[in-house]
Amino acid sequence: MLAGLRAGLGAGCAVHGQRGQRLAHSRTTEKLQREYDAVVIGAGHNGLVAAAYLQQAGLRTAVLEKRHVLGGAAVTEEIVPGTPRALHPPAHYLPCARLTTPCSPGFKFSRASYLLSLLRPQIYAELELQRHGLKVLPRDPYSFTPLLEDRSPPRSLLMGHNMAQTQQQIAQFSQKDAQAVCRVLLGTDGQAQGVVMQDGTEVRSKVVLSNASPQLTFLELTPQVWGHHSTWHRVTPQLGHPITAVPSPSQEQLPEDFVRRIQQLDTRSPVTKINVAVDRLPSFLAAPNTHDNQPLPHHCCSIHLNCEGTHLLHQAYTEAAQGHPSSRPMIELCIPSVLDPGLAPPGCHVVSLFTQYTPYELAGGQPWDEKARNAYADTVFDCIEAYAPGFKASVIGRDILTPPDLERIFGLPGGNIFHGGMSLDQLYFTRPAPSYSTYQSPVPGLYLCGSGAHPGGGVMGAAGRNAAQVVLRDFRRLRWQR
Ligand SMILES: Cc1cc2nc3c(=O)[nH]c(=O)nc-3n(C[C@H](O)[C@H](O)[C@H](O)COP(=O)(O)OP(=O)(O)OC[C@H]3O[C@@H](n4cnc5c(N)ncnc54)[C@H](O)[C@@H]3O)c2cc1C
Repeated sequence: MLAGLRAGLGAGCAVHGQRGQRLAHSRTTEKLQREYDAVVIGAGHNGLVAAAYLQQAGLRTAVLEKRHVLGGAAVTEEIVPGTPRALHPPAHYLPCARLTTPCSPGFKFSRASYLLSLLRPQIYAELELQRHGLKVLPRDPYSFTPLLEDRSPPRSLLMGHNMAQTQQQIAQFSQKDAQAVCRVLLGTDGQAQGVVMQDGTEVRSKVVLSNASPQLTFLELTPQVWGHHSTWHRVTPQLGHPITAVPSPSQEQLPEDFVRRIQQLDTRSPVTKINVAVDRLPSFLAAPNTHDNQPLPHHCCSIHLNCEGTHLLHQAYTEAAQGHPSSRPMIELCIPSVLDPGLAPPGCHVVSLFTQYTPYELAGGQPWDEKARNAYADTVFDCIEAYAPGFKASVIGRDILTPPDLERIFGLPGGNIFHGGMSLDQLYFTRPAPSYSTYQSPVPGLYLCGSGAHPGGGVMGAAGRNAAQVVLRDFRRLRWQR
């Protein structure tokens, strides 16, 4: 078998070069070599981890990314330019694009993923990430849940690593639960041969690793049928990119049951991410700011809103299941600039809102157009305002990412934040498909190295590291055979 991949790369692709340096983008395609030992499609964190291990082991490796920035769903991106306080426009909900008076620094967002908790320690050590500048900023306390209730001031729940203090916090609501916390703690060949870029450039390699999701990789980027009179075979694209196959001496195809499984992967996702630039810290009724407006301990926490009871979560979910964005969505609010002030201009902050539940498809086939997106964001902002009056007036810009937006911008099918649901039937030896959970695929030389492979989503780098190890093992065998 012989197979080629269309990497869907435009002129604006970013390229990581042989010594791991970024060759920048746009004008760097001319520096791209014709052949590598390994090509990685996608510069999400798993693709970068895999490439670093391959490069470390001596393989000439290139990483090809279709976006103008690296990092995939773990990207840090400036999407609201810095704007001096005096120039703040009167409208609070100005789209980023209309803020035309930039001053440095702007507002830098963890545009999709926003918490680092799962990164494998051996990757941190083996790739010397600290030496390369990665600084992990631990949070303590880490969880803050203010309540909306008919008493003044309303209560809140603040949890951190100090167990005694956390127990005191829980005891406000239940002595029994506070003691339970203590008890719990006591117990302890059709060989892939390269990629074809959107402009037709072919980059040859002995192996190809795909950091793209399984659906993108196998339904869009890989020929479904190849061979047959050296013609290029067009298949129906699932996410918009037409793809073509490279010639092969005999007609072959991906196994039907494999293709069916990949098509049927559950990629439903209820998350809408909203990134907000604000000119001051939110002040919560349950824990008001002091006069100097400096961060308080709870400002570095994950702040949970609309979580007073499971009935609220159930109602929010039911609405979305019927095709309507939740009217009182569950909100996880984080303010990364409290820990890292360099993310926003002085005095300003970036706020990350991870909200649920929003359907991929709206009831009645209504599109997720500007009106629908803004209406949902307004609902979210109204909710925050109820807990932290003044929040809406502090907003400078916002970036609303519904499930279709996450799909379009980050290549996440269905908007699924993990390249596919992390349900029991899609984990371990079935991720992404039974018999293909070892990073290999039906196409020899083509590997998955992203979240769609074991052990799944989250910024942990495990899929990238594991895939690189499998590739290195196979690569040595391949080299020996050729
Ligand atoms: C809104 C949101 C919030 C999240 N929050 C958290 C969190 O707080 N903590 C956490 O641990 N995880 C979180 N996650 C999950 C986590 O971000 C992902 O699981 C992880 O970043 C995926 O990494 P990856 O390298 O496997 O894939 P990705 O980051 O998806 O990278 C794939 C890369 O491939 C590129 N690509 C795709 N197709 C092509 C092509 N044809 N040619 C070239 N390049 C291509 C894409 O542009 C992308 O850069 C969140 C995800 C989202 C979306």
